[in-house]
Amino acid sequence: MKLDLHELIASPGGSVGFSFELDPEGLDFEGVLAYRSPITVKGSVENHAGLLTLRALIEADLLCQCARCLKEFPMRLRKEAAAYLTEELEDEDNEDYYLLEDGRADLTEIARDALILNFEPRLLCRPDCKGLCSKCGKDLNEGPCGCVEDLDPRMAALRQLLEKE
Ligand SMILES: [Zn+2]
Ligand SMILES: [Zn+2]
Repeated sequence: MKLDLHELIASPGGSVGFSFELDPEGLDFEGVLAYRSPITVKGSVENHAGLLTLRALIEADLLCQCARCLKEFPMRLRKEAAAYLTEELEDEDNEDYYLLEDGRADLTEIARDALILNFEPRLLCRPDCKGLCSKCGKDLNEGPCGCVEDLDPRMAALRQLLEKE
């Protein structure tokens, strides 16, 4: 999606809205099993005294897998994107600035970058997910499994003695 900003560049104080769907091709995030809806990108570019500022909201319904308990769960993706658009790039390393090509902004690139930069490295079904027992594999969110952690060999020996009685 390329957005033509010729008119906006010539009208300080103005703004241009946009709305499009992002191709999920190549957006393979750890823990995301499937996109259950199109990835929608909605926002606007405003001309603040010659500075072109883009703001957008990226949304989609995802099917995810919890990094701890491996359960599948639905998630509503909501990420904001913000960028400055410029016709001349002075500082190549500034990630917030995007170069216009022939007065047009590459919204696809900006939205993809925003997702890649802001995506959670580990998706959890809930913040306090207890995960699976490393011994028996039980989902500890459903309750304790009865396994005893033998972290300390002295405790393990003591437990063996107690269990014999
Ligand atoms: Zn979980
Ligand atoms: Zn267990």
